[in-house]
Amino acid sequence: MIIKKSPEEIERMARAGEILVATLALLESKIRPGVSTAELDAIAERFIRSRGGKPTFKGYRGFTGSICASPNAMVVHGIPGPYRLKSGDIVSIDVGVTLDGWVADAARTFPVGDVTSQARHLLEATEQSLHAGVAQCLPGNRMGDVSNAIQQVAEGAGLSIVRSLVGHGVGRSMHEDPQVPNYGKPGKGPLLEEGMVLAIEPMTTAGRPGVRVGGDGWAIYSEDGSPTAHFEFTVAITADGPRVLTPWHQTPEPRTSELVPEGAAGAR
Ligand code: MG
Repeated sequence: MIIKKSPEEIERMARAGEILVATLALLESKIRPGVSTAELDAIAERFIRSRGGKPTFKGYRGFTGSICASPNAMVVHGIPGPYRLKSGDIVSIDVGVTLDGWVADAARTFPVGDVTSQARHLLEATEQSLHAGVAQCLPGNRMGDVSNAIQQVAEGAGLSIVRSLVGHGVGRSMHEDPQVPNYGKPGKGPLLEEGMVLAIEPMTTAGRPGVRVGGDGWAIYSEDGSPTAHFEFTVAITADGPRVLTPWHQTPEPRTSELVPEGAAGAR
């Protein structure tokens, strides 16, 4: 059953989304060679709780992290741990924030230090596929319009879509109906209506589409070891069109007082 949200409920989800966007911006500032995924997890949990939210993933079916941190061939569901990022890695960070009972869910794959042009292409094309899917989140469209837009961009860029993992409705629960596949036919699938809120999340590989579950029962890897990407927004379908509730691409400009001039490190 698809649970539609009122404008007031969408506003409440947007408040959760604001905390989530700020969390991703904070993590982006901390991602560098040498930082461990457990350290990123602790930073995220502290920040989310300081803003009155709860990390949605913590305790979900026994998941121990506040975020998912999935480097390189790991597509999703990486449990944060001792792994230290190194230059050339890419790392997918998935964050869920619950605020006053409403959930926002979003993810981004970040480059660490200097990455290959293949990795850059993977990240850029997967992000573009997300935006193409969001643009189809219009009342009167079908889910297949969203799915196909994602597929066209990702496969058109030479990437593979991970088909066994899909997006989902989101609201008071992290996972609601309907499923949001990242492949499909235009004009097919559930009708999109005002008030639906979807987590749209293309997951791609630079190689073959097959995936396998890791030994911890959580992490999902590309079967061929190729690098993978994951970009996700929570999107509300409104009469005015798609409204992204987790707009991490609009990273706020730092306030002037926070700007440190080049070369000022160590100066007083
Ligand atoms: Mg997510």
